Amino acid sequence: MRMPFIDLKTPYLYWQQDIRACIDKVLEHGQYVMGPEVEELEQSLSERVGVGHAIACSSGTDALLMALMALGIGPGDAVFTTPFSFTATAEVIQLAGATPVFVDIDPVTYNLDPEALDTAVRALAFGNGSHPLPGPALEQAGLTPRAVIAVNIFGQPADYDRIQQVADTHGLAVVEDAAQSFGAQYKGRPSCGLGRIACTSFFPAKPLGCYGDGGAVFTDEDDLADILRSIRNHGSGRDKYDTVRLGLNGRLDTIQAAILLVKLMGFPAEMSNRQHLAGLYSRLLAESCPELVVPAVAEGSLSAWAQYSVQAENREAIRKGLQDAGIPTAIYYARPLHLQPVMAPLGYRPGDMPVSERVAERIFSLPMHPYLSDVQVGEIVREVARAASLST
Ligand SMILES: *Cc1c(COP(=O)(O)O)cnc(C)c1O
Repeated sequence: MRMPFIDLKTPYLYWQQDIRACIDKVLEHGQYVMGPEVEELEQSLSERVGVGHAIACSSGTDALLMALMALGIGPGDAVFTTPFSFTATAEVIQLAGATPVFVDIDPVTYNLDPEALDTAVRALAFGNGSHPLPGPALEQAGLTPRAVIAVNIFGQPADYDRIQQVADTHGLAVVEDAAQSFGAQYKGRPSCGLGRIACTSFFPAKPLGCYGDGGAVFTDEDDLADILRSIRNHGSGRDKYDTVRLGLNGRLDTIQAAILLVKLMGFPAEMSNRQHLAGLYSRLLAESCPELVVPAVAEGSLSAWAQYSVQAENREAIRKGLQDAGIPTAIYYARPLHLQPVMAPLGYRPGDMPVSERVAERIFSLPMHPYLSDVQVGEIVREVARAASLST
């Protein structure tokens, strides 16, 4: 048995005719950049999410960078975020010239802890030492708290009601990093509509993936949307050869937009398969491997199940057992962002974010994609149980 961690081939084979036809159509009309499919995609995305504007762009990373640029965030600004995420979440803060301030996570959902956010903003304002802060950067300049990037890790939305309360108290803009959570819900509200600006990724392995890099930014505010569209295209003004602000080449290729329009047709069924498979995993693991910590989804929320991640004390032994049985696993994320070498100038130390650090030592992800069968989930769980029992 050898199974993929994420199966990209099966959906391609299933949608092959439509995918090839839509690519052919772009090849024939020849509008390879900002062609009609891009606008069609944006309309479809904004309708699905129920926000005023969806702005397709070149990647999830560029979506986040564009969001910070549109908010006017730069040197001297503090942007709060979780250390338990993909590196891009913090990278864009530094690219914008601002300073990342890390806030530890909730031990159950692995998402940014709103109470810790409140403590961190107050610590920054009053210098009272109640939360670890980026030392050297602080000494150089008093930082202005400007925004929080909350990440919906593994597909589950963070606690936006509480995060918004804290953000409102301190005047922070809430940016939703929905790179892993397109299709998720928070209290009945779709992900990508939960912050002032939301950013998603269409990297192939994400819940809604294209066949290359892609992303989108979402907002309800017309003026922000205008700025985001301008930033996407080199800061263009009304005339595209007028440059009115600093921007990027942040456009999405027309071919990728066309592919996404096809993939959106299958997306609702894929999302319901993910719900079913995650439920099956959790039920079978609870029966045969109760010492494993399975994912907990907050009441009223729906995860997009970008990953199905569990915690185990004997993680490496279980992963080795699975590998021998031809079952791939992955670790998201082995090193929290505050301890990445690129963040060293901020002066964070091991122990500063204890929950993230503890989770990073124990977490790993099992194969998860909508084309897994119930039988495969059963086999994976059997191998997990076998490896776990051999190693204790
Ligand atoms: C994948 C990802 C990104 C970056 O998206 P790209 O499209 O790969 O640039 C940002 N944040 C999180 C949480 C991600 O998982």
